[in-house]
This record gives sequence, C-alpha cells and structure tokens, in this order.
Amino acid sequence: MPGGSYYDILGVPRNADEKEIKKAYRNLARKYHPDVCKEPGAEEKFKQINEAYSVLSDPQKRAQYDHLGHETYTSASKGSYSGGGGFHGGGFSADFSGFGDIFDFFGGGFTGSRPMGPQAGSDLLMRMEISLEEAVFGADREIELNHTEACTHCNGTGSETRKMVHCPRCGGSGQMRQMSQTIFGQFVRMSTCTECRGRGRIPEKKCTVCRGTGHTQVHRKVMVHIPAGIDTGMRLRMEGFGEAGDYGAPNGDLFIEVQVRPHPHFRRSGDNLETDIDISPAQAVVGSVAEVETIDKKKVELAIPAGIQHNTALKIPGEGVRRRGKPGDLLVRVRIAIPRQPKAEIRALYEKILELEGHRLPDSRKGFFSTFMGKK
Ligand SMILES: [Zn+2]
Ligand SMILES: [Zn+2]
Repeated sequence: MPGGSYYDILGVPRNADEKEIKKAYRNLARKYHPDVCKEPGAEEKFKQINEAYSVLSDPQKRAQYDHLGHETYTSASKGSYSGGGGFHGGGFSADFSGFGDIFDFFGGGFTGSRPMGPQAGSDLLMRMEISLEEAVFGADREIELNHTEACTHCNGTGSETRKMVHCPRCGGSGQMRQMSQTIFGQFVRMSTCTECRGRGRIPEKKCTVCRGTGHTQVHRKVMVHIPAGIDTGMRLRMEGFGEAGDYGAPNGDLFIEVQVRPHPHFRRSGDNLETDIDISPAQAVVGSVAEVETIDKKKVELAIPAGIQHNTALKIPGEGVRRRGKPGDLLVRVRIAIPRQPKAEIRALYEKILELEGHRLPDSRKGFFSTFMGKK
C-alpha cells in the first residue's frame, strides 16, 4: 500500500499511545476531509488515514497488525477473510470507517459533547374562570396547585449526603459514545447519558425521600392577585411557581389563563361595559329620567333625551372597566318596550293619539285576520 505502514500514514512513532494516535488522526482527517480539501488525491489520502486509524485505535487490531506486519495484515484483510475471529470486517472498508469520529470532531466536538448542566423546571399552565366583577375590579383568589418543589430532605440535590459526584458512566460529559461495527466500518454514535440524563453529575447517594430526583410532588394553596382590567385569554405569570428545576437551576413559571364568565346584565367591549334598559314609548317621545344600576351596584340617574330611537346607546362616563387608573364607560342601550296590557286610562290616551295621528282602530267585531285579508 502506498505511503508505508499505518504509523507512517498517521506520522506517529510505533510506540505512540492512544492519545497521540487520536490527535494525529484528527489533524490529518481535518486536513484531508473531502469536504475541506480539494487537492488531487485527497480523497484517497483520507481513506488511508481512516484505514490506519481504525486499526491503530483498536488495541486488539493494533496488536495483530504489529504482530503480522503491514503486508500480511493488509493482504489478509483484503481477502475474503471473514468470521476468522479478530479479522472480521477488519475496519478496512475505508470509505466509511472512522466517520463517526469525523462527525464527533466536526459536529459534536463543537456542540454536543459538553454536559448540558442543570435544567430549569418546566412551566405550568392553569385555566381560571372569574366573574366579570373580578375582571373589572381585580381580586385576590386562592388557587390549588399541584407541582414539584425541591426536596427538603436533600435540599433539592437528590443526594442523601447533599453531595454530587461526576457521573461514572459518561465521566461527566453527559454523553455516551456507542461504537458499532458494521459491514461499512466502524460507527460512533453519541447519545445522552442514561445515568445522569446528560447532566454530567449524579447524587453521591440517592436521597431516600425523593429517590434521587431532588423533587417532591406538592399540593399547595397559592394566593393569586388578579389585576383589574384582565380579560379572557390573558395570562398571569407567577414566576417560580412552575415545576422545580434541577439543583442550582431556576424553577419554571406558572401561567394562569383567565376566562371571564358571561354576566347576566353586563357585556364587555374592551374597557367599556354595556347594559340594556327598557323605556316606554312615552319616555322615548317626550324624554325622561331612568335609573340604571352600575356593575358595582350603584344607582345612577340617566337622562333620556326626547325623541330617542330604539337601540340607541347612552354613555355613563367612568363606570366601565377600571384599568390602570383610566376607567372605561358604561354604555346603556335603550330599548323601547311596548306595553302589552296597558291600564285602561293609558290605553284611552293612546287611542286619542291614534285619532290625532289620523289612524283608524281595527274593527273590533271582526277578527284581525278577516280585516287584514280584506274579507267582508
Ligand atoms: Zn452520565
Ligand atoms: Zn431528596
């Protein structure tokens, strides 16, 4: 094979240790990686580097290589020598061998190989139904909350001794390397350490109360201040009332999404409130004064101007939603209600009006429909 022994290819002495071999390999792989190096022959060189490394990085293969010598070792492996113990695959399918390490170096080396450290707690979302009065005036409301808190027994460390140690499985990196040998060569897969879940540290001795999680489930009553002016769909944020974080990391937040219940008498429109009153036709014609109840149950006199039309809104300033010191208004929608069974005296007066307007009364001896349909 051109370039001589695997040691020559990597440019290391025959007695080089694992670290030196790896370092040399990484430098060369970076230099000759086909994505990086456009020199002619770079790809072939890259294959040789990987081939050399796949043997020299494996103590068993390296021992065999040293024992057999370059010629014998490579010719044996290039033949269809499989299942012979130790030579299987040989790591010589150079196109692919060692790629895991390249990715480790080019990708994971920058991003994935650091432990992720303590994780903040998750946020919680709760829904809360409130009355329109509570939305208008604000309120303090007690809620019941189920969430995790730092275990008091271990102070949230998850450790009976309150001490943490480096994870023995991943050596504190938070990641595990899984080597797999395939017909394409050797792959290295990085995955989150299952022992420390990527944190890199574990409790020295698992806490007997929280079983090492550092958290306990707690049922708690919490006072929530509902600010005046809140509306449906708005969220209150209670910092730190979410799930407990890892030891040394912040808790999540609790978000309370508000739903305002419909009110039998008041509707809300932004910072304004709307209500309805019924007035008589006489009130509409000549004008009047009506009494209106505000949302805080105050009686307010409302002047009805003469000639008001059905469904007109009259404004009572400052009786709407009180938000940030600037209150909205109360809009009073006027509905003209026709009396169904007026007192005889009132009916007589309406008949008089009818006469003055030049209209006829319906013929009382005939039914409404016969008159209406013109049947005599
Ligand atoms: Zn670990
Ligand atoms: Zn504990």
